[in-house]
Amino acid sequence: MTQWIFMNGEYVGKEDAKVSVYDHGFLYGDGIFEGIRAYDGNIFRLDEHIRRLYDSAKAMLLTIPYTQQEMAEIVADTVRRNELEDAYIRLVVSRGPGNLGLDPFTCKTPQVIVIAEQLALFPKEFYERGMEIVTVATRRNRSDILNPKLKSLNYLNNILIKIEASLAGAGEALTLNTEGYVAEGSGDNVFIVRDGELWTPPSYLGALEGITRNAVMEFARDMGYVVHEQPFTRHDVYVADEVFLTGTAAELIPVIRVDGRTIGDGVPGVHTLRLLEIFQTHVRTDGVKVYPERQVS
Ligand code: PMP
Repeated sequence: MTQWIFMNGEYVGKEDAKVSVYDHGFLYGDGIFEGIRAYDGNIFRLDEHIRRLYDSAKAMLLTIPYTQQEMAEIVADTVRRNELEDAYIRLVVSRGPGNLGLDPFTCKTPQVIVIAEQLALFPKEFYERGMEIVTVATRRNRSDILNPKLKSLNYLNNILIKIEASLAGAGEALTLNTEGYVAEGSGDNVFIVRDGELWTPPSYLGALEGITRNAVMEFARDMGYVVHEQPFTRHDVYVADEVFLTGTAAELIPVIRVDGRTIGDGVPGVHTLRLLEIFQTHVRTDGVKVYPERQVS
């Protein structure tokens, strides 16, 4: 079956979905993106993803040729076209083709691309047994230099971080910012649990304001948890009762070892598992319906 990719107003087959070598997204990472998921035909937090995309676009003076509502419809339609129920969706807007100079104003037509495909899940055992992570030497970008709120195609900092973690044999990295405070993973946010309360670093420390992170904070508060969005150090991670990661791709992954220190009992913790269960319920019921004509039985 052909995989259909949305490209600038039309659907093209995967083999024909090509961008120019003069695209500044390719030449300079001059563009933005979102990773979004659909579960059982429900797109999780679509409006938040679209809003973050348009905030990023505004911050880099990039005009997306669709309204936010039109873009949300395009995302849902791409999932529909590919007849998917569970999907990982990649929405990319690049500055478009220009000349070889840095000046973005030589680029006249932004390229809007939506890819939707079958989920590429992290291995099941990460969710059941937990993951081991390591702190890497590469520091997370400072938010006053490249604000992580601007979710750009410039992901080399994250890639260098990911390389270090992989070479160390770890599933994911723990990153610190230049002051030594915990920031996040290479592509996910981090939470710690201590005495039944949750902590996650504030975004100004260099963490992306993850949509999964925000959803988990909301679900946790609804469940009665106290949630702190406050700076903490690597020491606090080592002595935490539980640690977990959140992200669109990662969902909610328990962490059982950090830099060789066993977290809690070395198995996914009770709070993490409760939150994972709630998260899994929400993602299958909330969200924008891809197939609204379906009757709920
Ligand atoms: N941090 C980084 C650097 C990321 O790339 C991502 C994935 N978008 C996240 C955190 C998690 O964010 P979200 O929950 O919005 O996917």
